[in-house]
Amino acid sequence: MRGLAPWLGISVVTFVLHGLPTPLAGQQEPSSPRVLAFYSTNGEGDHTDFALQAVPFFQDAARRAGIRFEATTRWDDLNPGNLARCRAIMWLNDSARSQSQRAAFREYMEHGGAWLGFHFAGYTDSGTHWPWYVDFLGGSEYSGNNWPPLPAMLVVDDPKSPITRHLPHRYLAPANEWYSWMPNPRLNSHVKVLLSLDPSNFPLGLKDTIQSGDVPVVWTNTRYRMIYMNMGHGDRIFDDKFQNRMFEDSLDWLVSRR
Ligand code: ZN
Repeated sequence: MRGLAPWLGISVVTFVLHGLPTPLAGQQEPSSPRVLAFYSTNGEGDHTDFALQAVPFFQDAARRAGIRFEATTRWDDLNPGNLARCRAIMWLNDSARSQSQRAAFREYMEHGGAWLGFHFAGYTDSGTHWPWYVDFLGGSEYSGNNWPPLPAMLVVDDPKSPITRHLPHRYLAPANEWYSWMPNPRLNSHVKVLLSLDPSNFPLGLKDTIQSGDVPVVWTNTRYRMIYMNMGHGDRIFDDKFQNRMFEDSLDWLVSRR
């Protein structure tokens, strides 16, 4: 029998190499798109609460979509070598602070990167000193918010977008601290507003109020593969199934090349 062993061995190897489908086909093999979410735990508690819910939410959504999802609080992972291996990144509750992080992010976004930013990630003011990022967001800066956090009726501006197509035309979004913007991002010809506050909300807030006006909530700057969503304050954000579907659809759009 000893004489048969080499022949048998070659035969088995040949069969394994050529006769079987890829063992991990359709699952999370190394070539699955990789999405890396950045967040901070040393900021406002309500923003941390959101991030700590967002990580398992997107982990779960990613697993179902065959996407490799990772999350980190190490913002220095925003570097060219690491970003080159990311199909998309998320900023759950903060933004890049150091010059090297900012330079790596800009390079990434200007060369085909994809980004989803929530709530405080889009906060900029006179102390931010990053004009490129303000422009990237559509030229708008934070100008105020309601307080306390409240649910708000949102209206879909573009029902055909892959981000919003599963949303009802209007829905009551879970409690959030909603930001207003100056100037209105809708004035930027590169910006496509996807969701905004319905005027029936106004005045929105008790201590601090948003009185009136056109207040975009979700939009994209069409010069980049990016979405900004103002949701992201507190632990109620994932309470609405329609909104959750929008988050999942956004993840799909980020990693797709459509
Ligand atoms: Zn907030």
